[in-house]
Amino acid sequence: MSQFNEATGYNQEEAEFKRREAEALAALRSKLDAQRAELKASASRPANWMYCPKCGGQLAEQRRGEVVVDACGGCGGIFLDKGELELLLAHGKGTMLGRLFGH
Ligand SMILES: [Zn+2]
Repeated sequence: MSQFNEATGYNQEEAEFKRREAEALAALRSKLDAQRAELKASASRPANWMYCPKCGGQLAEQRRGEVVVDACGGCGGIFLDKGELELLLAHGKGTMLGRLFGH
């Protein structure tokens, strides 16, 4: 029998699960930030770095909540790095976006 916490509205197991999930997501967030910074600083980054694959426009980094996207100034396309979609979905659980992707 788990204790219900009046303050959080969750029982202890749920609270612990949510805490661990938040920690895992924060760890993924900082890993992705580090990878991005490393690639940005690297001389060996690809020639098409930060150019839109659809229209060739300049991409700009935008932080949208927990996710960093590359948004095209030309066509308005939004591009995600590896791992960013997973972050987006994890934070979108129970939302329309989450349901769209089967979460
Ligand atoms: Zn574009």
